Amino acid sequence: MTDPVDCSVLYERHVAPWYQLAGLTIVRGAGSRVWDEEGRSYLDFAPGLGVCGLGHCHPRIVEAICRQAASLIHVQNRFFTRQQARLAEALTRKLGDRFDARAFFCNSGSEAVETAIKLAKRARPGRSRFVAMERSFHGRTLGAVSATGQIKHRDGFAPLVPGFSHVPLNDTDALFHAVDDGTAAVIIEPVQGEGGVYVCRASYLRDARQVCDEHDALLIYDEVQSGMGRTGDYFAFQTLGAPPPDAVCLAKNLAGGFPMGAFLVRGDLRTFLPQGTHGSTYGGNALACAAALAVIETIDSEGILLSVRRNAERLAASLAEIVAQYADRVVEVRQLGMIAGIEVAVDANDLTATCQKRGLLVNAPQGNIVRLLPALTISAAELDEGLAILKDALAKAPATR
Ligand SMILES: *Cc1c(COP(=O)(O)O)cnc(C)c1O
Repeated sequence: MTDPVDCSVLYERHVAPWYQLAGLTIVRGAGSRVWDEEGRSYLDFAPGLGVCGLGHCHPRIVEAICRQAASLIHVQNRFFTRQQARLAEALTRKLGDRFDARAFFCNSGSEAVETAIKLAKRARPGRSRFVAMERSFHGRTLGAVSATGQIKHRDGFAPLVPGFSHVPLNDTDALFHAVDDGTAAVIIEPVQGEGGVYVCRASYLRDARQVCDEHDALLIYDEVQSGMGRTGDYFAFQTLGAPPPDAVCLAKNLAGGFPMGAFLVRGDLRTFLPQGTHGSTYGGNALACAAALAVIETIDSEGILLSVRRNAERLAASLAEIVAQYADRVVEVRQLGMIAGIEVAVDANDLTATCQKRGLLVNAPQGNIVRLLPALTISAAELDEGLAILKDALAKAPATR
């Protein structure tokens, strides 16, 4: 039955028009598929833009949320909940015992980044400078926008939080030049997502670790998009074989679709934000924690990391074929695990619109880049099905060069 609500009219009249809308009303999702109000199904190659990492409505997440909601949704953070205790234990263990991490829970990636900035300021008093990467994306709040290295996100919001400078990714000389004894922290996405999928070299992260140690600056990894299994490990820096940071920001797939962020910090740094200096009213609520626990239990018990690595190989092979076959339309592909960017010489927005018409949802974070963030649980058949649609759309797109 068709829903009587006309979303396009209500959005037009009542929703802030700040997103580029796809004109599609989604009413249901399961795994790597969603359905619109006419009952048409779409293969979703970016469920929740990386948020629904285990696919839409994974039964274990649904069950955990329903069960938890019936017993306790939230209490103020002065009280223990078993869900937060167990989640903090499970997450911090993923960083290894030597890290001795402490977890702070919040509700979004931006909030995790804000936490990183605030902690760095307290941990390195008197230092006001931060070094971040060009093309980076760290979120929409003012601190996170200040860290973000893209003019389109910063434009018109000056003055931003002072002290941020941006250097080109994977350029060690530029980094060594930028970091000094006035640097509080360096913040890096091990895989830049929204900027267009640019992967850090392991040697670059080793150099970053070294220069931070030399100047006693903190090294912070923003793994909001690259973390929680996306690259075949809990953290992309582990997949890359890079040294650990001093703190990590997580969100997106952390609670499988339920809004949640986390900031994990090395144990010895935990005291720099004394009681009362930071918090988040409903951060770490029992409902979000139960969802995140279900995500971790699913990843661990269903061998998800292994299947990510297998799927990633299949995806890499297909993308290599696409590059070879459409050399006039594809400039380059970049990939780590199940995040891939296809740099195209066609209009990426037109390409995503064509794919949508043919039943495939992909995302274009930049005008020349198509980003794939398939569910970690996607099947080989679904992967092949979607890539065939993408190829077909590429074949018909007018080349821009
Ligand atoms: C999505 C994203 C953010 C912002 O997360 P929100 O939950 O939208 O605030 C920050 N950093 C990275 C790397 C992201 O991909």
